[in-house]
Formats: sequence, structure tokens, C-alpha cells
Amino acid sequence: MISQNTIDTVFETARVEEVIGDFVNLKRAGSNFKGLSPFSDERSPSFMVSPAKGIWKDFSTGKGGNSVKFLMEHSQFTYPEAIRYLARKYNIEIEETEQTDAEKAMTDVRESMYLVSEFAAKYFQDVLINSEEGKAIGLSYFKERGFTNETIKKFDLGYSPETWDALTKEALGKGYKLEFLESTGLTIAREDRPFDRFKGRVMFPIQSMSGRVLGFGGRILTNDKKAAKYLNSPESDIYHKSKVLYGIYHAKQSIAKQNNCYLVEGYTDVIQFSQAGIENVVASSGTALTPDQIRLINRLTRNITVLFDGDAAGLRASIRGIDLILEEGMNVRVCSFPDGEDPDSFARKNSHDELVSYLENNSKDFIQFKASILMNEAKNDPIKKADLIRDMVTSISKIPDRIQREVYIQECARIMDISEQVLVSTLAQLIQKDIAEANKKQKQEHKPFDVVRNQNPKNTGYSGGDPEDPRTGPPEGYYDPGDMGYPAEQAEKVDILYGFERKIIEILLLYGSVLEDFEDVFLKTDEEGNVKEVSEKRKYKVYEKVYLSLQEDEVELSNTLFQNIFNGLIDFYNQNETFSLDKYLMHLPPDFAQEVTNILMEDEKLVIHNWEGQNIFPKHKNVTIEQNVSDTIFSLRWFLVSKIIHDLKNSLISDPQDDNSELLSMVIDYSKLLNNFSRKLGRVVVPYH
Ligand code: ATP
Ligand code: MN
Repeated sequence: MISQNTIDTVFETARVEEVIGDFVNLKRAGSNFKGLSPFSDERSPSFMVSPAKGIWKDFSTGKGGNSVKFLMEHSQFTYPEAIRYLARKYNIEIEETEQTDAEKAMTDVRESMYLVSEFAAKYFQDVLINSEEGKAIGLSYFKERGFTNETIKKFDLGYSPETWDALTKEALGKGYKLEFLESTGLTIAREDRPFDRFKGRVMFPIQSMSGRVLGFGGRILTNDKKAAKYLNSPESDIYHKSKVLYGIYHAKQSIAKQNNCYLVEGYTDVIQFSQAGIENVVASSGTALTPDQIRLINRLTRNITVLFDGDAAGLRASIRGIDLILEEGMNVRVCSFPDGEDPDSFARKNSHDELVSYLENNSKDFIQFKASILMNEAKNDPIKKADLIRDMVTSISKIPDRIQREVYIQECARIMDISEQVLVSTLAQLIQKDIAEANKKQKQEHKPFDVVRNQNPKNTGYSGGDPEDPRTGPPEGYYDPGDMGYPAEQAEKVDILYGFERKIIEILLLYGSVLEDFEDVFLKTDEEGNVKEVSEKRKYKVYEKVYLSLQEDEVELSNTLFQNIFNGLIDFYNQNETFSLDKYLMHLPPDFAQEVTNILMEDEKLVIHNWEGQNIFPKHKNVTIEQNVSDTIFSLRWFLVSKIIHDLKNSLISDPQDDNSELLSMVIDYSKLLNNFSRKLGRVVVPYH
């Protein structure tokens, strides 16, 4: 375990702009940096880094967080891996805390499986490089294939001796348990004679995104026709074939940088490409690409180029799997090699420059490629041609982007010599079906206080009063988009309650420990039912004022995530004299951190879209903290009281009683209170109107 001390030092030392700068080309934008999102394929930068706040935000995907979160998102590190990475980057010595016996016993099964796999990889490597047998058989085979020492080292290639239990014996001798040798598939137990699965093979360790050994591929060296040429580790708790891509660990940085990923068939293709200087290459290891594998790539780039062997049969089979890639919103290109060549052999025979230019000149857009290939086969066969058209349109319907679909339709119409109209109507049918399914799914997932965007103000989720009525209508400026950080020009109405609650959190984050003069307002109802206002000035810390006001009304935030963040923040302020954003963010669970980052980076959107240049300012910037806080609290109270009135009215209508007088007088009382809030708000709101 990494000590808390080390973790603290890492957080204190790491500069978010330096950490991200290793992966994203950042340019200064005022006090921030901006760049092209590494998570999406975009042309104008919407990726923002704030050195002052120590956080980043990607407006194209909504992701955001601190340095550690970036590494977890971008490089698929786990939390400890990200800490270790940063420690290495900043030369911070990692202090490991001693594990107690109980902790040792708790070290879980998966960890033991990782450890034995790592041991095996080291063992195979050692045998390959240092033993006579390894050198004579394994190493000379790799050399024959054209692999350099450097390449062999980079991919941790190894050799498993031609002895039935060499690895098993060695591992057991070193204290590794048979249980884990078996569960990783390295050892096959038959009665009391456990033996090595990979005996006499050259070994290709399969690594995770973060470089841990998950399993192995082993290639046989004899010409034994009965034995499989390649043998792979079985599925296990750490090795899920469908979720792993061979080479991803070495390829990930290059994939993000080149903004493209080459997909090949197997181990030797990946290695040969990498040796030829093309590092953004991974293999799906024999099977068709799965959605999980696609998502692995999708995090690094939206562009994938599938490389096919020269033979046509393999090509047809592979084409089918590609709709899956389109469905994930990726741009797919394909490139096939000359007859009889595969990426491995082709890369070996050609220089780096030849390979690069071959890939450049022969990569075709998938849709066009598929259309032209199949057209050749179906040219003179009307039935085949009709099938083909449906097939093409199905592929196109998988593409999430409408404009791109449109372009493909035109292109296909041209290649297949058919009217666009026919393609468009077939496409419409298919999409209709998809949308219906998607809607059904979305409805089930919709949470009550998600942001609701709606053109109709009566449907904004605000359920009190009549928005058109100046007396019971919403407080002035209540949905002022600028107030909530939304661009006025979009004029999107946002769920009001969500907006206010979010703003409460924003206030706590930005000014929680600031001491301010607040007007304490007491609302009293006299005998005639008139609401009277009594006020006096007092000093509060902002967080205290917020907390007390909500307490007073016994209001809980309706959004549970916000309420949890709220509780955490109040606790934090109570326990800490000063608020440090770094310190606070550091211990936050991931979904809190995500939301908090979103809130904190909201105002940075201005820089991204240059709204300031267009004279669109968030209005609250000119307002004092006291005004901002009071305004928000009153708005929230106003909203909640409106809701009570609305509910009361509803119960009057739906459940008419003989004597309604009590309910009616409650409605009147609350309405008076509401008017009072509105007046109060009107006054507070005035300065920035
Ligand atoms: P040869 O020397 O006979 O060409 P090879 O080792 O190059 O053999 P191929 O049969 O050409 O293997 O296979 C093409 C690619 O697919 C290679 O990169 C290989 O590593 C990979 N491959 C083949 N079989 C499997 C398998 N069962 N699992 C994973 N990868 C495989
Ligand atoms: Mn081959």
C-alpha cells in the first residue's frame, strides 16, 4: 500500500497542466490552458485546464477532474497506478506501508493471480535470454522472425522450456500457490502431477491497459500438425478475452497522439508494426472485435483503421464485425494488403516510410470500401444487389452522426448507381426503429432532477404558480441562463430546482469560508395574517449562512448527489479552518469529484466559446457574495413554497372536502409568503438588471 504521506506529496507536487501536457497539446487561454479533447474527435478546442484550481474539464464529453482523474480516464490507470505514475514523473519516493498479517491474508485472489502471472512472464523472459535452451530455440526463432533484442525486451517475449513442469516447479519453489498457477491456466493439474500448459513454446505476455500481465499466448515451434500453432491462457478472473486488446499498453499513448488506432489480427502483426515505428497498433487476438474492446480504443481515439490480410475470404468475414465499430460512433477505415501478405510480413519486407505511405494510400473509408467490394460481386445480380443495398443502409444507420450519415448516403448512391431517395427512405425506417428503442431505454433511465432542456417554460419542472403571472410567477431572473452558467443565446430552460441546488454547491465551493455581512430576515405573520419582515445585519461565514438558512426551512436538497456533496462540504468546513480545493478534491469519491469539477469549471466555458468577446457575461460576476448567496437561498425557498402551494391546490381539486377553509387559508398564507420572497428577490436582483 502506498502511504498517505506519499499520496499527499504527490497531490501537492503534481501540476495538472504538466501532467496533461504530456498527452494533450495545451495552449494558454487567459489564466487557463485549452486544447483539443483527447476523448473526442474535435476541431475546435473544448478541453480546458485550470492550473489555479488544479483541475481539467472536457466540455465535449463532460469529463473532468484532477490530475489523477485524468490519468485514470486517459490512460486507464487505477487510482494507485495513477499515484505511482505521478510519483515517478516527479521523482517522489514511494513509501509503502507495511502490510499486517491480516492484510496479507486479505490480499485478494485476483492480486495473487496477477503476481503469479508477472512471475511467469519474468521467468519465461529469463529463460529466453539466459538459458542455453532458450537462446538456442526461442531466441533464435524470434531472430528469424526479424525481432530485434529491443523489441523482444519491449514486449517481454519469453520461452517456456521443453520440460513438462519447469515453470510450475520454479513457481512453487518460490512460494507461489498451486491454486493460482491453476486458476491463471499456467499450470494444468492432473491428479497429483501438475504440468505446464505452455511447455516448449515462445511466449507473448498479454498486458492490460496499465501494463499488468493478464495472460499469455504461446506459439509452438515444432511442426506437430496435431498441436495448435497458438495456445492462449484460458478465461480467468483476471483475463477476459473480450475485454483485452493485445498491445494496448504500448500503443495507448501513440493512439491518442496519432488520433488513430490500427487494428490487426495477432501478436506478430502488432510487434512487427511497432518495430517498424508504427506504435498505434493493437490486436483483437484471433476473435471478432467485441464492444468492450471497441470502447477501450474509443477512449483514446475515435478513428480506427482495420488492417486485412490479402485473402478475400477473411475480408468478407471481417467486414461483418465492423458495424459494431460504427455503432460506437467511431470512424472506421480499412486497408487490405497485397495477395498473400499480412501486416506482419508486409511490415517486415518494407521500410518504415514505405509502410507509412502504403497505409496512407490504401486506407479507405469503410462504407465506401464495403460498397465497392460488394458491388463488384453483385453487379449483375439484382437479388444480390437488393441485399447489398439493405446491408449498406444498415451499416449507415449505425452511425450516430446525422451529417455523416447524409454524406454516406450520397456516396453509396453514387457507387451503387441507385437514387438517393430510395436509400434515404430505407434509412429512415431503420433509424425510426432504433430511436424508438433508444427512447424506451432512456425513459427508464431518466432521473427526476436531471437537467431538463425544454423550449416550453411551463414544462421546466417548475411546478409553482403561473410563470406568466407577475404575482405568483417565478422570481425575476430565476431562469436567467447566465445565472446558471448557461449561455443566454441558447435560451435553454433548465430545471429550476436543479439549478438552484447546484448553485448552492457552487457557492459553498467558491466562497464557503468567506466572512460576510448578512441580513438576517425574520418573517412574522401578525394576527391579521399579514407577513411582516424583520431584519438585522450579522457576520457569518458563507457556509454557516447557507447551512442555517436551509436548516431553518428544514429543506434538504432534492438531488441526492448534491445533498451528499453538501453534507461533505459542511463537514469539511466545520473541521478545517481554511478551505483548500486540492485537499477537498483529493478525498472525494469519483462521482462527487466529477460533479464538483463540472460546477467549478462552468465559468470556464466562457473562455472556450469566447462569450466574453461577444459581450455575454455571467451576470453574477458583478454581484457581491452576500447578494449572490441571499439571492440563491431565497430563490430556493421561493421555489419550494411555490411547490407547496401547487400541491395544496392540487389536493383541493382532486380531493374536494366539505370544508375547504383550512386548506384555502394555508394557500393564502403561503401565497403571501411567496409574494414576500418575490419582493425580497426583486430587490436583490435589481442591481444586475
Ligand atoms: P506463420 O509463421 O506460419 O505465418 P504466424 O505465427 O505468423 O505463423 P499466423 O498463422 O500467420 O501466425 O497468424 C497471423 C497472426 O495471428 C499472427 O500475428 C499470430 O500471432 C496471430 N494468431 C494466430 N493464431 C492465433 C491465436 N489462436 N490466438 C491469438 N493470435 C493468433
Ligand atoms: Mn504469419
